[in-house]
Amino acid sequence: DHGAGMFRRVVVKLSGEALTGGDTHGLNAGTVQRIAADLVAASDSGTEIAVVVGGGNFFRGIQGATKGIERARADSIGMLATVMNALAIEAAIEAEGYPARALSAVPMPSVCQPYSRQAALHHLGKGRICVLAGGTGNPFFTTDTGAVLRAAELSCDAVMKATQVDGVYSADPKRDPSATRFAQLTHDEAITKNLAVMDTAAFALARENRIPIIVFSIAVEGAIRAALEGSGTFTLVT
Ligand code: UDP
Repeated sequence: DHGAGMFRRVVVKLSGEALTGGDTHGLNAGTVQRIAADLVAASDSGTEIAVVVGGGNFFRGIQGATKGIERARADSIGMLATVMNALAIEAAIEAEGYPARALSAVPMPSVCQPYSRQAALHHLGKGRICVLAGGTGNPFFTTDTGAVLRAAELSCDAVMKATQVDGVYSADPKRDPSATRFAQLTHDEAITKNLAVMDTAAFALARENRIPIIVFSIAVEGAIRAALEGSGTFTLVT
Protein backbone atom coordinates (compact mmCIF):
# COMPACT_ATOMS: atom_id res chain seq x y z
CA ASP A 1 0.00 0.00 0.00
CA HIS A 2 1.46 3.41 -0.92
CA GLY A 3 -0.54 4.96 1.88
CA ALA A 4 -2.29 7.45 -0.39
CA GLY A 5 -5.42 5.35 -0.68
CA MET A 6 -7.43 5.78 -3.84
CA PHE A 7 -6.37 8.90 -5.70
CA ARG A 8 -8.87 11.52 -6.84
CA ARG A 9 -7.00 12.46 -10.04
CA VAL A 10 -3.72 11.25 -11.54
CA VAL A 11 -1.53 11.54 -14.59
CA VAL A 12 -0.61 8.19 -16.15
CA LYS A 13 2.61 8.48 -18.16
CA LEU A 14 2.88 5.99 -21.03
CA SER A 15 6.08 5.84 -23.05
CA GLY A 16 5.93 5.20 -26.76
CA GLU A 17 7.84 1.98 -26.12
CA ALA A 18 4.93 0.63 -24.06
CA LEU A 19 2.78 0.72 -27.20
CA THR A 20 5.08 -1.38 -29.39
CA GLY A 21 4.15 -4.66 -27.69
CA GLY A 22 7.59 -6.10 -28.35
CA ASP A 23 7.71 -4.88 -31.96
CA THR A 24 10.71 -2.73 -32.84
CA HIS A 25 8.67 0.43 -33.34
CA GLY A 26 5.22 1.81 -34.08
CA LEU A 27 1.90 0.80 -32.61
CA ASN A 28 0.87 -2.75 -31.77
CA ALA A 29 -2.93 -2.77 -31.99
CA GLY A 30 -3.45 -5.53 -29.42
CA THR A 31 -1.15 -3.85 -26.91
CA VAL A 32 -2.79 -0.45 -27.37
CA GLN A 33 -6.22 -2.05 -26.82
CA ARG A 34 -5.03 -3.88 -23.70
CA ILE A 35 -3.63 -0.66 -22.24
CA ALA A 36 -6.85 1.18 -23.12
CA ALA A 37 -8.84 -1.48 -21.23
CA ASP A 38 -6.47 -0.96 -18.28
CA LEU A 39 -7.07 2.78 -18.37
CA VAL A 40 -10.83 2.24 -18.48
CA ALA A 41 -10.66 -0.13 -15.49
CA ALA A 42 -8.63 2.46 -13.58
CA SER A 43 -11.08 5.22 -14.48
CA ASP A 44 -14.04 2.99 -13.58
CA SER A 45 -12.62 2.67 -10.08
CA GLY A 46 -13.35 6.37 -9.60
CA THR A 47 -10.03 8.10 -10.26
CA GLU A 48 -9.92 10.83 -12.90
CA ILE A 49 -7.24 9.97 -15.45
CA ALA A 50 -5.11 12.17 -17.68
CA VAL A 51 -2.72 10.15 -19.84
CA VAL A 52 0.50 11.79 -21.02
CA VAL A 53 1.89 9.80 -23.91
CA GLY A 54 5.44 9.68 -25.28
CA GLY A 55 6.58 9.27 -28.84
CA GLY A 56 9.78 7.27 -28.68
CA ASN A 57 8.21 4.39 -30.62
CA PHE A 58 8.29 6.69 -33.66
CA PHE A 59 10.87 9.41 -33.09
CA ARG A 60 13.10 11.01 -30.46
CA GLY A 61 14.48 14.50 -30.97
CA ILE A 62 17.93 13.65 -29.60
CA GLN A 63 18.32 10.81 -32.12
CA GLY A 64 17.16 13.07 -34.95
CA ALA A 65 19.73 15.64 -33.88
CA THR A 66 22.54 13.08 -34.21
CA LYS A 67 21.44 12.58 -37.82
CA GLY A 68 21.83 16.25 -38.63
CA ILE A 69 18.36 17.67 -37.99
CA GLU A 70 18.70 20.68 -35.69
CA ARG A 71 17.46 19.78 -32.23
CA ALA A 72 14.48 22.14 -32.03
CA ARG A 73 13.10 20.87 -35.32
CA ALA A 74 13.82 17.24 -34.46
CA ASP A 75 11.90 17.77 -31.23
CA SER A 76 8.96 19.05 -33.27
CA ILE A 77 8.97 15.74 -35.12
CA GLY A 78 9.05 13.98 -31.76
CA MET A 79 6.08 15.98 -30.50
CA LEU A 80 4.12 15.07 -33.64
CA ALA A 81 4.91 11.41 -32.90
CA THR A 82 3.15 11.76 -29.54
CA VAL A 83 0.03 13.01 -31.33
CA MET A 84 -0.15 9.81 -33.40
CA ASN A 85 0.03 7.76 -30.20
CA ALA A 86 -2.58 9.92 -28.46
CA LEU A 87 -5.07 9.47 -31.31
CA ALA A 88 -4.53 5.71 -31.26
CA ILE A 89 -5.12 5.56 -27.50
CA GLU A 90 -8.17 7.82 -27.77
CA ALA A 91 -9.63 5.50 -30.41
CA ALA A 92 -8.87 2.40 -28.35
CA ILE A 93 -10.54 3.85 -25.23
CA GLU A 94 -13.62 4.74 -27.29
CA ALA A 95 -13.62 1.20 -28.70
CA GLU A 96 -14.01 0.04 -25.08
CA GLY A 97 -17.23 2.09 -25.01
CA TYR A 98 -15.68 4.76 -22.80
CA PRO A 99 -15.36 8.52 -23.44
CA ALA A 100 -11.90 9.91 -24.21
CA ARG A 101 -10.52 13.21 -25.50
CA ALA A 102 -7.13 13.74 -27.08
CA LEU A 103 -5.73 17.22 -26.42
CA SER A 104 -2.54 18.43 -28.07
CA ALA A 105 -0.07 20.98 -26.69
CA VAL A 106 0.90 21.52 -30.34
CA PRO A 107 -2.35 22.93 -31.69
CA MET A 108 -3.80 21.06 -34.66
CA PRO A 109 -7.52 21.71 -34.39
CA SER A 110 -8.54 19.58 -37.36
CA VAL A 111 -7.07 16.53 -35.61
CA CYS A 112 -7.92 17.03 -31.94
CA GLN A 113 -8.66 19.81 -29.48
CA PRO A 114 -5.71 22.06 -28.57
CA TYR A 115 -4.58 21.46 -24.98
CA SER A 116 -5.69 23.97 -22.41
CA ARG A 117 -5.94 23.50 -18.67
CA GLN A 118 -9.59 24.55 -18.72
CA ALA A 119 -10.51 22.08 -21.46
CA ALA A 120 -8.72 19.22 -19.69
CA LEU A 121 -10.41 19.99 -16.36
CA HIS A 122 -13.78 20.17 -18.12
CA HIS A 123 -13.37 16.74 -19.72
CA LEU A 124 -11.98 15.15 -16.54
CA GLY A 125 -14.94 16.51 -14.58
CA LYS A 126 -17.26 14.78 -17.04
CA GLY A 127 -15.52 11.46 -16.45
CA ARG A 128 -13.65 11.41 -19.76
CA ILE A 129 -10.12 10.09 -19.97
CA CYS A 130 -7.90 12.88 -21.33
CA VAL A 131 -5.03 11.80 -23.59
CA LEU A 132 -2.48 14.60 -23.60
CA ALA A 133 -0.22 14.88 -26.64
CA GLY A 134 2.70 17.13 -27.52
CA GLY A 135 4.44 16.89 -24.14
CA THR A 136 5.06 20.42 -22.85
CA GLY A 137 4.69 21.85 -26.36
CA ASN A 138 8.32 22.99 -26.29
CA PRO A 139 11.54 21.53 -27.67
CA PHE A 140 14.31 20.43 -25.27
CA PHE A 141 11.78 18.83 -22.94
CA THR A 142 10.51 15.28 -22.59
CA THR A 143 7.07 13.84 -22.09
CA ASP A 144 8.17 12.82 -18.57
CA THR A 145 8.56 16.50 -17.75
CA GLY A 146 5.26 17.11 -19.56
CA ALA A 147 3.62 14.50 -17.32
CA VAL A 148 4.80 16.22 -14.12
CA LEU A 149 3.86 19.65 -15.52
CA ARG A 150 0.33 18.49 -16.30
CA ALA A 151 0.05 16.80 -12.91
CA ALA A 152 0.98 20.11 -11.27
CA GLU A 153 -1.37 22.33 -13.26
CA LEU A 154 -4.28 19.86 -13.15
CA SER A 155 -3.89 19.39 -9.36
CA CYS A 156 -3.22 15.66 -9.67
CA ASP A 157 -2.39 13.54 -6.63
CA ALA A 158 0.36 11.57 -8.37
CA VAL A 159 2.16 10.70 -11.58
CA MET A 160 1.82 7.01 -12.38
CA LYS A 161 4.92 6.30 -14.45
CA ALA A 162 4.49 3.10 -16.45
CA THR A 163 7.76 1.40 -17.40
CA GLN A 164 9.02 -1.97 -18.59
CA VAL A 165 10.16 -2.95 -15.06
CA ASP A 166 8.31 -2.96 -11.75
CA GLY A 167 9.98 0.03 -10.15
CA VAL A 168 13.24 1.91 -9.77
CA TYR A 169 16.37 -0.25 -9.46
CA SER A 170 19.88 0.51 -8.25
CA ALA A 171 21.09 -0.48 -11.75
CA ASP A 172 19.47 -1.74 -14.95
CA PRO A 173 17.93 -5.08 -13.82
CA LYS A 174 17.97 -6.37 -17.41
CA ARG A 175 21.78 -6.06 -17.49
CA ASP A 176 22.85 -6.32 -13.86
CA PRO A 177 21.37 -9.30 -11.96
CA SER A 178 22.54 -7.83 -8.62
CA ALA A 179 20.37 -4.71 -9.11
CA THR A 180 17.89 -4.16 -6.30
CA ARG A 181 14.53 -2.43 -6.39
CA PHE A 182 13.84 0.58 -4.17
CA ALA A 183 10.49 0.42 -2.35
CA GLN A 184 10.62 4.14 -1.68
CA LEU A 185 12.87 7.06 -2.59
CA THR A 186 12.87 10.80 -2.22
CA HIS A 187 12.90 13.07 -5.26
CA ASP A 188 16.32 14.24 -4.03
CA GLU A 189 17.69 10.69 -3.99
CA ALA A 190 16.33 10.01 -7.46
CA ILE A 191 18.20 13.09 -8.72
CA THR A 192 21.48 12.63 -6.84
CA LYS A 193 21.72 8.89 -7.53
CA ASN A 194 21.15 9.78 -11.20
CA LEU A 195 18.47 7.08 -11.53
CA ALA A 196 17.59 7.02 -15.20
CA VAL A 197 13.88 6.30 -14.81
CA MET A 198 12.99 9.96 -15.48
CA ASP A 199 15.04 13.00 -16.45
CA THR A 200 16.26 15.47 -13.83
CA ALA A 201 13.93 18.23 -15.01
CA ALA A 202 10.93 15.96 -14.37
CA PHE A 203 12.12 14.96 -10.88
CA ALA A 204 12.97 18.57 -9.99
CA LEU A 205 9.51 19.79 -11.02
CA ALA A 206 7.93 16.99 -9.00
CA ARG A 207 10.06 17.85 -5.97
CA GLU A 208 9.21 21.55 -6.24
CA ASN A 209 5.48 20.80 -6.35
CA ARG A 210 5.55 17.80 -3.97
CA ILE A 211 4.07 15.41 -6.51
CA PRO A 212 4.54 11.71 -5.72
CA ILE A 213 5.68 9.51 -8.60
CA ILE A 214 4.72 5.84 -8.66
CA VAL A 215 6.92 3.77 -10.95
CA PHE A 216 5.34 0.45 -11.98
CA SER A 217 5.41 -2.12 -14.77
CA ILE A 218 2.87 -1.91 -17.57
CA ALA A 219 3.64 -5.50 -18.64
CA VAL A 220 0.88 -7.16 -16.59
CA GLU A 221 -2.80 -6.81 -17.41
CA GLY A 222 -4.63 -4.55 -14.96
CA ALA A 223 -1.34 -2.96 -13.90
CA ILE A 224 -2.62 0.61 -13.87
CA ARG A 225 -5.56 -0.05 -11.60
CA ALA A 226 -3.43 -2.26 -9.33
CA ALA A 227 -0.81 0.48 -9.00
CA LEU A 228 -3.55 3.00 -8.18
CA GLU A 229 -4.80 0.72 -5.44
CA GLY A 230 -1.29 0.24 -4.10
CA SER A 231 -1.18 -3.49 -4.81
CA GLY A 232 1.60 -5.24 -6.73
CA THR A 233 5.17 -3.98 -6.81
CA PHE A 234 6.22 -0.43 -7.51
CA THR A 235 8.57 2.28 -6.32
CA LEU A 236 7.13 5.33 -4.60
CA VAL A 237 9.10 8.54 -5.10
CA THR A 238 8.06 11.31 -2.69
N1 UDP B 1 9.28 16.29 -27.07
C1 UDP B 1 9.53 17.65 -27.00
N2 UDP B 1 8.98 18.37 -25.98
C2 UDP B 1 8.21 17.81 -25.01
C3 UDP B 1 7.97 16.42 -25.08
C4 UDP B 1 8.52 15.68 -26.10
O1 UDP B 1 10.22 18.20 -27.85
O2 UDP B 1 7.74 18.53 -24.11
C5 UDP B 1 9.82 15.51 -28.21
C6 UDP B 1 11.27 15.07 -28.00
O3 UDP B 1 11.92 15.10 -29.24
C7 UDP B 1 11.09 13.64 -27.53
C8 UDP B 1 9.91 13.19 -28.35
O4 UDP B 1 9.05 14.34 -28.39
O5 UDP B 1 12.24 12.86 -27.80
C9 UDP B 1 9.16 12.00 -27.80
O6 UDP B 1 8.94 12.16 -26.41
P1 UDP B 1 9.67 11.23 -25.33
O7 UDP B 1 11.08 10.99 -25.74
O8 UDP B 1 9.45 11.85 -23.99
O9 UDP B 1 8.82 9.90 -25.48
P2 UDP B 1 8.91 8.50 -24.68
O10 UDP B 1 10.35 8.25 -24.36
O11 UDP B 1 8.10 8.65 -23.43
O12 UDP B 1 8.31 7.50 -25.62
